[in-house]
Amino acid sequence: MNIHEYQAKEVLARYGVPVPKGIPVDTAEQAAKAFHDLGGGLAVVKAQIHAGGRGKAGGVKLVRSADDAQNIAAGLIGKALVTPQTGPEGRVVKKLYVTQGADIAREMYLAVAMDRSARAPVVIAAAEGGVDIEDLAHSKPEALLRVPVHPVKGIQGFQIRRICFHLGLKGDQLKGGAAVIQGLLKAFMDTDASLAEINPLITTKDGQVVALDAKMSFDDNALFRHKDVAGYRDLNEEDPKEVEAKKFDLNYIALSGNIGCMVNGAGLAMATMDVIQQKGGMPANFLDVGNGANKTQVTNAFKILLSDKNVKGILVNIFGGIMKCDTIAEGVIAAAKETNMSVPLVVRLEGTNVELGRKMLQESGLNLQTATSLDEAAEKIVKAAH
Ligand code: GDP
Ligand code: MG
Repeated sequence: MNIHEYQAKEVLARYGVPVPKGIPVDTAEQAAKAFHDLGGGLAVVKAQIHAGGRGKAGGVKLVRSADDAQNIAAGLIGKALVTPQTGPEGRVVKKLYVTQGADIAREMYLAVAMDRSARAPVVIAAAEGGVDIEDLAHSKPEALLRVPVHPVKGIQGFQIRRICFHLGLKGDQLKGGAAVIQGLLKAFMDTDASLAEINPLITTKDGQVVALDAKMSFDDNALFRHKDVAGYRDLNEEDPKEVEAKKFDLNYIALSGNIGCMVNGAGLAMATMDVIQQKGGMPANFLDVGNGANKTQVTNAFKILLSDKNVKGILVNIFGGIMKCDTIAEGVIAAAKETNMSVPLVVRLEGTNVELGRKMLQESGLNLQTATSLDEAAEKIVKAAH
């Protein structure tokens, strides 16, 4: 799960990471008031969407008056902001964060992520920040320092010093830098985060080390033990189909193709997507209905697939191992009738009671095709969807 910048800064501030004062707002009038409440002078109006690269897309603006703040806010709210991370359709801005403007001396990069090969969190630091870190990693990999942290012993003094020196911090800034590194790492560990990123981390003209931007992502499987973090969830930022699927315990991820897939088991779902592509089609989603592919699950899954306007055909590929194929066929038939299936449907069943299952499908009176192999099923649906 991702959260907004203002929420990530709230988390980091609790761990002693200095952040500029700010006020989240929903309207242009509130933005003007926030400018006053922050003491006037220089402020920044920042679009709150779950995507980076807002600055270059016009979603981060410096303002010097309440009128400015109000006008900029009015221009952002309700508009779709297109950044390299949003895709061409962009993300509609519903919330803004008005912060005190900082006097930047230098921009750096600092993050903690999970390094699976090191089986440990890793601190990533670069003396050049504010930039696209992927670009920097590509053009100048030596600019990125990676320091794996022992998950039990924690970060050591020499590691903190090494990171501070790599960031180019000097004198009094070293203390501030150390506090930020420790705070960021502790916040990451305590909340079961998968990423905690500060880009840019800045030094101010008076020698402070401050997080000017913040991004955090969390492991969904650990959210049950972090009610406060789970409370940050913003459904506006998620695909409504994925939100719906979560309610029914379906593992669903929306994709951009036109063939809806309903499969049991993540491995079989991946293989199904591969074969669809191999036959010249594009999957509209990844969907694992789980091993309890019963009527309710199948009906809910059908409804979600059909709510995607891009879907021009559905491929059901289910292996009846725990479930029997006749039970699955019953579920598919009932679901297809209940949802008034209007797109071509190809069903491939395999496993226990497969003959009975196929017979039920053929005699159902539904406009569907059956297939005995995955190859055949994929070919049929790609053709039908065209
Ligand atoms: P992002 O583009 O979505 O990553 O948004 P950021 O919060 O990182 O802001 C983008 C850029 O705007 C930063 O790299 C800064 O150069 C600039 N910026 C943001 N806040 C301030 C501020 O308080 N003062 C100044 N001078 N520049 C700022
Ligand atoms: Mg940034």
